[in-house]
Amino acid sequence: MKHTPGPWKVSNSLRHIGKRSVQSIVGDCDGVTSVVVCDMPLEYEPTHAAYPKMMADAYLISCAPDLLSALKAIMDDNADRCGDDGNYFLGYHENICIYCQARAAIAKAEGK
Ligand SMILES: [Zn+2]
Repeated sequence: MKHTPGPWKVSNSLRHIGKRSVQSIVGDCDGVTSVVVCDMPLEYEPTHAAYPKMMADAYLISCAPDLLSALKAIMDDNADRCGDDGNYFLGYHENICIYCQARAAIAKAEGK
């Protein structure tokens, strides 16, 4: 399984599907044509307090190929590492070391 090639970006303009406005994340299809990777329905007006969080989600999604590529490169150099000395336990899963979290994130991103 291979995702739409990067780079992905948050579209500069809104799309309209029926009466809804959506913020699209677009990827690179062939170097010329952008393809829609995902559409985020605009639940909020730009003045709503939740709007910045929605846009932050859009930017996070748009850098997924970059994050995956970088994480895979890091893990290529650390394939056998595990933070079993206790110094590498961070983030959402405090009981799982960052190397094991990275391996799990790569597997999740690759649908494994
Ligand atoms: Zn580990």
